[in-house]
Amino acid sequence: MKQAVVHIVGAGVAGLAAARTLARSRQCEVVMHEARAQAGGRRRSFYDETLGLDVDTGNFPLLSSWSSALSLIEAVGARGEWREETEPGVAFADFSSGERWRLRPNSGRAPWWLIDPGRRGPGLRLSDYWALRRLSSASKTATVASVGPNSRAAMDRLWRPLCVAALNCPPETASATLAAAALRELVRSGGSGMRLLTPVHSFGRSFIEPLARRVERDGATLRFERRLLTLDFGADRLSGLEFENDRIDLRPGDALILAAPWTVAASLVPGLEPPRNLSTALTVHFAAPSPQAAPTVLGALGGLFQWLFSYRDRISVTVTEAGAYVDAPNHAVAAECWRGVAALTGLSDALPPWRVIRSRRSLAWTPEEAARRPTCRTAWRNFFLAGGYVEGPLPDCIESAARSGESAARACLERVG
Ligand SMILES: Cc1cc2nc3c(=O)[nH]c(=O)nc-3n(C[C@H](O)[C@H](O)[C@H](O)COP(=O)(O)OP(=O)(O)OC[C@H]3O[C@@H](n4cnc5c(N)ncnc54)[C@H](O)[C@@H]3O)c2cc1C
Repeated sequence: MKQAVVHIVGAGVAGLAAARTLARSRQCEVVMHEARAQAGGRRRSFYDETLGLDVDTGNFPLLSSWSSALSLIEAVGARGEWREETEPGVAFADFSSGERWRLRPNSGRAPWWLIDPGRRGPGLRLSDYWALRRLSSASKTATVASVGPNSRAAMDRLWRPLCVAALNCPPETASATLAAAALRELVRSGGSGMRLLTPVHSFGRSFIEPLARRVERDGATLRFERRLLTLDFGADRLSGLEFENDRIDLRPGDALILAAPWTVAASLVPGLEPPRNLSTALTVHFAAPSPQAAPTVLGALGGLFQWLFSYRDRISVTVTEAGAYVDAPNHAVAAECWRGVAALTGLSDALPPWRVIRSRRSLAWTPEEAARRPTCRTAWRNFFLAGGYVEGPLPDCIESAARSGESAARACLERVG
């Protein structure tokens, strides 16, 4: 008898993770449909002619506690393509005061580093960290700032950079419950789960390309330049998929995992509301080798950019909440960012070749947005949602996308056939 076919629309991290779980199960045929000519979704890599380098559409560090993403990387043999910090924690620099420090959690699970002032950051008290406990009893409508500490230092040096990095919005609008869930995971993993990993070359080479190759070797079919336009819904099951140039009728037992972004899913699925809070981010890559002693990831406070990444062949910065710079000329943005990079690294002020990448689709995780995340199961028994935005303990990130793809695949396997 012919196997059931599971179609996956969207070849980002979530779609690829779903494809891997399904293809390995050997319980169904797997066919992926991707609108672009390339896999990776928001995490694409490309060769930039001006820089003469492979670059990513953003800067994508991983955390050593992200088990689903890391096990995918291990499984596809790409672990050697990642550079892992030897120590847990993250380095910071403050433009206005000139101070530098590193949050240095100890490796074990008992957080004794918090009683050591040299490890928890200048001006930060034990009570500032203790206040994080209040997040866990916060209501679903609470923002991080509404339950956070009153201390200015804690807000500026801890809560604000962490909220902006993880939830794409400041503590004044960030969801306290989502911040609590993400922190709970981190605390449970202990200091050893707080080491940062960055791609040695590009995210494509370190994750997407080997994963896509493995998925195909496992028997899945990847079809590119296939944009899904509409879905045909029956009473309790999905009956067809309409693409730009053809249509697929779903037989009994066939299923769909829609692993497209939230905005696209909302335009295709009745009753699914689109996200309301999207923020803009800028990534600026510079063709300049980083100084040897530079930390791989540096949080920067009080400047235009918030994160500075040092790769082997380039330096790159991320400007989160970049709404004010959306219409600024690229050259002006690059020049201002480079002034900050030069100040922090001691490199020359002369602007090296640069590339600005704008992204207008980062989800800002306010309490309202967190409460509106859809679940993976839908009202139609052969139709599932996957993506970093789908309900789970983490905000939209590579780990939540990988977990969501795997969960959607498992839910789908319970029903196919
Ligand atoms: C600027 C920026 C910086 C980020 N930084 C980080 C970070 O530092 N760390 C981190 O963990 N996460 C980061 N993220 C979030 C991370 O990129 C996402 O969580 C992750 O890429 C989501 O993967 P996904 O598979 O759910 O969706 P996507 O990556 O959006 O993939 C969806 C896929 O569906 C395809 N598609 C869309 N519509 C259709 C259609 N109609 N038919 C067929 N295919 C379609 C798209 O082309 C795409 O390939 C960042 C995101 C942005 C935008």
